[in-house]
Amino acid sequence: MSSTGDASPDERERPVAVVVGGGLAGITAALALADGGMDVTLLEGRPRLGGLAFSFKRGDLTVDNGQHVYLRCCTAYRWFLDRIDGTSLAPVQERLDVPVLDAEKNRLGRLRRTALPVPLHLARSLATYPHLSLAERVNVGRAALALKGLDLADPALDERDFGSWLAEHGQSQRAIEALWDLVGIATLNAVAGEASLGLAAMVFKTGLLSDPGAADIGWARVPLGELHDTLARKALDSAGVRTELRTRVTSISRTDNGRWAVEVPEGPDSSGQILAADTVVLAVPQRETHDLLPDGALDDKARLLDIDTAPILNLHVVYDRKVLKQPFFTALGSPVQWVFDRTEASGLHASGPAGGQYLAVSQSAAQDEIDEPVAALRERYLPELERLLPAARGAKVHDFFVTRERTATFAPTPGVGALRPAARTGAPGLYVAGAWTATGWPATMESAVRSGVSAADAALATLGRPRGHLFREAA
Ligand SMILES: Cc1cc2nc3c(=O)[nH]c(=O)nc-3n(C[C@H](O)[C@H](O)[C@H](O)COP(=O)(O)OP(=O)(O)OC[C@H]3O[C@@H](n4cnc5c(N)ncnc54)[C@H](O)[C@@H]3O)c2cc1C
Repeated sequence: MSSTGDASPDERERPVAVVVGGGLAGITAALALADGGMDVTLLEGRPRLGGLAFSFKRGDLTVDNGQHVYLRCCTAYRWFLDRIDGTSLAPVQERLDVPVLDAEKNRLGRLRRTALPVPLHLARSLATYPHLSLAERVNVGRAALALKGLDLADPALDERDFGSWLAEHGQSQRAIEALWDLVGIATLNAVAGEASLGLAAMVFKTGLLSDPGAADIGWARVPLGELHDTLARKALDSAGVRTELRTRVTSISRTDNGRWAVEVPEGPDSSGQILAADTVVLAVPQRETHDLLPDGALDDKARLLDIDTAPILNLHVVYDRKVLKQPFFTALGSPVQWVFDRTEASGLHASGPAGGQYLAVSQSAAQDEIDEPVAALRERYLPELERLLPAARGAKVHDFFVTRERTATFAPTPGVGALRPAARTGAPGLYVAGAWTATGWPATMESAVRSGVSAADAALATLGRPRGHLFREAA
């Protein structure tokens, strides 16, 4: 086992940081600490960067583990894309436009915005939204205004659930399904009845009621791995960060001289090492954080284990022909939630059936289906896609497979806000990051990037270092 030198920060030119975890939070923290002039090593247990947002090969196809989208209001993730030179590869639609297909009535509606100021930007779309009655549309408008008036800083909001608040504000089951859950399930990874009012209010206020363009949707036109692994690695290399993959940290402890020892044991891929650091950012999921955090770093470390997780399931279907003209749509009255055209991003045209199309069906809050066998999912979803997409009825299915992420996000249940720790721990020089930490955002790429910025910012401030090119809004 090798060990790095143990000189004090005064004797060394630059203070040393070790970031554990190469998801978006860890990559961000590493970039930000390097931009702030620190000597940074990033350690990631897997053979790639990107954490929960990654790609893999299936034959010639490049597959994302799950469809990821972001909104124009995700300013930190947009900063991240810019920082890794990836903005042009994950553009945002010019104006919010979501096709919403009612499977039972076979009717298409659209959630669109205009250039008018908030809340008028959505008024026309709501007024003509065919999936709700006139009374329901009026009530939705009223509830949106009530939501706008909520104070996100009020901790009581986190204690109650969004579903009961919607019912109290006159929302019918249909309005919840056709509007509130349509957006909420995809962004929160929970139905309204199981989501914290605080997090739901944050999503709807920020996305739909802050700025006319806030909810315009962006998504990668290339595999996620090209952004979060390839381009991120390039940015880390040019920032001078040493990145070590297949390097799983097993312990973090305080040394006698007040520094940190980060231990990687010997294994099939690693010769083992102990790194000495002035600053450690632990950017791993909550359970791993619980196991690695030294005692006393948080007041009640065991509370991290109360932050539950929620699954997301993706069904991938390769057809022999084009069955969907839109880049994506969402469905009502169907088990299908959101469907995306993945043809270009996956490289299907170079390798698959000529003129074929690859769709990803993204199923959030998938507790009931996450462990179902592929055959059962195939039997349920292929006929359902045929019901929604007439062109799929005569099409041949070349491939059908499933990606299951059982711990895709933290569960946004009422009360979760009180369990999410801030970046700064009680142990000097030790910080936590991750989408699950106290960013105020649900478990998103935005939350992950914000958490990485907050951790780096706190570390740099403690050391009296300049903040480099840090994203300003997050800290
Ligand atoms: C299927 C799916 C769909 C999603 N859809 C969206 C979406 O549409 N929009 C959106 O914004 N977000 C979405 N998300 C959520 C988003 O992907 C995550 O919130 C975000 O990527 C989390 O990043 P993170 O860095 O906080 O954590 P992670 O990605 O979990 O990164 C933690 C990293 O730490 C590493 N690690 C763990 N233990 C150790 C150790 N001991 N030593 C070294 N390394 C370790 C892990 O290997 C991992 O790479 C989705 C997630 C999934 C799974």
